[in-house]
Amino acid sequence: MRTRSEITEIFSHLGKQLEAHREMGLEPPPLSDETLRYLEVAEPGIDYMPAKKSYPPDDPPDQGRQPNALKALRSSIGECRRCKLHENRTRLVFGEGSSQAQLVFVGEGPGQEEDRTGRPFVGEAGKLLTRIIENGMGLSRKDVYICNVVKCRPPRNRDPEKDEMETCIPFLEKQIDIIRPKVICSLGRVAAQCLIDSGFKISKERGAWQSYKEIPLMPTFHPAYLLRYPSAKQQVWDDIRKVMTRLGLEVNKNG
Ligand code: SF4
Repeated sequence: MRTRSEITEIFSHLGKQLEAHREMGLEPPPLSDETLRYLEVAEPGIDYMPAKKSYPPDDPPDQGRQPNALKALRSSIGECRRCKLHENRTRLVFGEGSSQAQLVFVGEGPGQEEDRTGRPFVGEAGKLLTRIIENGMGLSRKDVYICNVVKCRPPRNRDPEKDEMETCIPFLEKQIDIIRPKVICSLGRVAAQCLIDSGFKISKERGAWQSYKEIPLMPTFHPAYLLRYPSAKQQVWDDIRKVMTRLGLEVNKNG
C-alpha cells in the first residue's frame, strides 16, 4: 500500500509530464474527475482540460521542419493507450520519411505487415505505393513522408471508428504541422473523409484539388484498392501527375 505522499509524488510527476507534452503541442487525454482532483492537489495551477482544438497551428516559422521535432513527437506518444486500438496492436506505426518532405502520403491505418514491422505501407499495398513513388514519380521513399490517420492496426483491418480517429488525429495534425509539406496526397476513402470532409465520396470526387489547413491536398484511391481493381490505375496515375506538376517535378506524358 502506497503512502499518501508517494501517491502525491506520482501525480506531481504525471502533472509535470502532461504540462511538458502540452508545451510540445500535445493535449492531455481525457482524464477522470478523480484523476483531475489528485492532479490539482499534487500540481496546482495547470489547466489539465484538453483544449477544444487539439493542435493549434501556432508553431513559429522556424520551429517546424526540424528532424528532431518528429522524433520528439514520437517519443511523447510513447506506448499509447489513448484509444481501444492499442488492445490488439503489435507495434504502433508512427510514420516514416523525411521531416522536410514536400509530399506527405496519408493512408487510413496500419495493416498486418505494418503492425508486425512498425513501418507504414510495407505490405503488398505498400509495395505498390513504393513503385508509384520510385518508378512513377522518380522519387525515393525517403524523400517523402508516409503515415496514417490511426497509428495502430484496427482488428481484421476494419475501418477505424470515429472515436479512434478523433483520439489519434492530433498526432497526424502535429506531424503535418512539423513537416509543412507543399502537397498532401490522401490514399483512400477514410483518409480523405478524415482530412477533407466526412461526406467525401472517393469514387466521384477523387482527382480534384482540395486543401487541408491551406495545404493543397490530392485525394486518390488507396493502393489496396488498386490491387483489387487494377483498372483504376490510370485514374491514380492522373492524380499523381497533378501532384508532380504541383511539386514542379517533370511529368512523363506517356507514363
Ligand atoms: S490508434 Fe492512436 S490514439 Fe489509438 S492507441 Fe494507437 S496511437 Fe494511441
